[in-house]
Amino acid sequence: VRKLIAGNWKMNGLKAALAEAAKMAEMVGDGNGADVLICPPFTLIGALAEELDGSAIRVGGQDCHVVESGAHTGDISAHMIADMGGNYCIVGHSERRADHGEDDALVKQKAEAVLRAGLTPIICVGETREEREAGKAGDVVSAQLAGSLPDSGQYVVAYEPVWAIGTGLVPTLEDIAEIHTLVRSKVGSKTRILYGGSVKPSNAEEILTVANVDGALVGGASLKADDFYGIYSAI
Ligand code: PEP
Repeated sequence: VRKLIAGNWKMNGLKAALAEAAKMAEMVGDGNGADVLICPPFTLIGALAEELDGSAIRVGGQDCHVVESGAHTGDISAHMIADMGGNYCIVGHSERRADHGEDDALVKQKAEAVLRAGLTPIICVGETREEREAGKAGDVVSAQLAGSLPDSGQYVVAYEPVWAIGTGLVPTLEDIAEIHTLVRSKVGSKTRILYGGSVKPSNAEEILTVANVDGALVGGASLKADDFYGIYSAI
């Protein structure tokens, strides 16, 4: 499958960040190497989709509500992201699971809402440090997949060990391979499985060549065009 390099800007990015994205689009060019995606905060989705129109970079959301519209103050639906020109939406990121108490059942509903809107969900799973140290990483990821994946439709899975996000810590390549092989056994050969957690230009090449790693979900290093392009060009 074609690789996907996805950037998650989290709660970062004012209007001035559009220029950084335009620089990324210029560097990526026709995107022959891989699919490229930026998920900015909601406030920038429309402007970024316009800025990147005609480029090889797609735009996505970082979260959505489970229904299309209604009395849910402060929430955003997948249909709204689609209407703004988005193509993907991340669901179940560990920061949503931790900060907003999102559980697998809710993440599954969100993934299904993303599919109904005609977008591709990127469903995040991954163990905490305690779970890894207890030897439970595989069991945790299996349970999250069983609870969070939609029953049908095309989606992307991102394996993001919670302890590797934003910390500079990365699992060994053997540990990444082990979990990705496990995920592969659950999702089949056509589903892209991304690795996420402290991916940088300096470690991207070795991570992206691990078996069953079909791309990366990148937080911090997606904010600067030079870093993000450094990861893209490692493919
Ligand atoms: C993320 O939050 O999805 C992520 C992988 O962050 P970072 O690359 O900063 O570790």
